[in-house]
Amino acid sequence: MALFGGIEAGGTKFVCAVGTGPDDIRAEIRFPTTADAQETLGRAVAFFQEQEARQGRLDALGVASFGPVDPDPRSPTFGYITTTPKPGWAHTDVVGFLRQAFRIPVAFDTDVNGAALGEWRWGAAQGLDTFVYLTIGTGIGGGGMVNGALMHGLMHPEMGHMRLCHDRERDPFPGICPYHGDCWEGLASGPALQARWGQPGDALPPDHPAWSLEAHYIAQGVVNIVCVLSPQRVILGGGVMAVPGLLSQVRREVQALLNDYIQRPALTEAVEAYVVKPGLGGRAGVLGAIALAEGAWRAAV
Ligand code: ZN
Repeated sequence: MALFGGIEAGGTKFVCAVGTGPDDIRAEIRFPTTADAQETLGRAVAFFQEQEARQGRLDALGVASFGPVDPDPRSPTFGYITTTPKPGWAHTDVVGFLRQAFRIPVAFDTDVNGAALGEWRWGAAQGLDTFVYLTIGTGIGGGGMVNGALMHGLMHPEMGHMRLCHDRERDPFPGICPYHGDCWEGLASGPALQARWGQPGDALPPDHPAWSLEAHYIAQGVVNIVCVLSPQRVILGGGVMAVPGLLSQVRREVQALLNDYIQRPALTEAVEAYVVKPGLGGRAGVLGAIALAEGAWRAAV
C-alpha cells in the first residue's frame, strides 16, 4: 500500500503529516512559517526523512500552499510561491527544494484547492463535481472543482479579491487590502474585523453589529460565486466562520440576496445542506495535501 506525505504550507504555520487518509495519519508535526524559507522547508524535509527511516519510503508528496503560487506543470516556475508579500518567501521554489531531497512525485496547489480536494475525497464534497471551498480567516481564499477538475486556468482563482457592493454610509471602513482597499478580503477577513472594530473577532459578542455586517459581506461573495460557477455546494471554513451563529446568518443572507431567483431546492428549501461547514473541520488543509499526493501517485503509476 502506498504511503504519502502532505504539507499544509500556511502563511503562519506549516503542518506536515504522513499517512493515507483521515483514519490513518501516522505522524504529524507543526512549526511556524519563519521569514527564512529554506530553513522552514528544511524542517519539513527533516521530518519526512525521519518518518521514512521509521515507516519506509514515501510514494509521493503533496503541498497545499499559501500564495500566490504557480500550479501550472508546463510553466518554468511551476511549484513556486511567486509574488507573496510574506517576507522571505517571494519566488521560492518549493517543489524544486522537495524534489532535490526526495525523488518522488510532488503535487503542488493552493491551500484552498488542497482543502477542496480533501473535502471531495473524504469530507463535505464527496460525490460532487462542481463545488467551492472558501476560507474566511487571516485572509479570504477560495478554490474547488468545476466538472471534476480542480480550478486552475490562467493561474488559480483569487476569490478573496472580488469586489463587493460597499455601502459607505452603513460601513465607512475603507478596507485593508494593500492592492484594492475594500475588496472582499479587505472588508471581511479576520484582520479587517479587527481593524474596523478595534478588537479581534473572537472578542466581539454574538449580538454585536459586526456580525450582521460580516454575514452580509460573506453572503455577497457566496452569491457572486453561486451566480458565476453554479456550484452544487459551498463549503465555508476558516477561523472567522467558527463564530457561533455566523453560518446561519450567512445562509439567511444568501437566500435574501438571491431573492428566489435560482429555483433549486438546495437554495430555496435546504440551504443548510448547501452552505456548509467543512466535513473535515480544521483538518481539511493537511488532509488535502495528502489527497494531492495520492493524486500525483495515481497519475505516476
Ligand atoms: Zn484585494
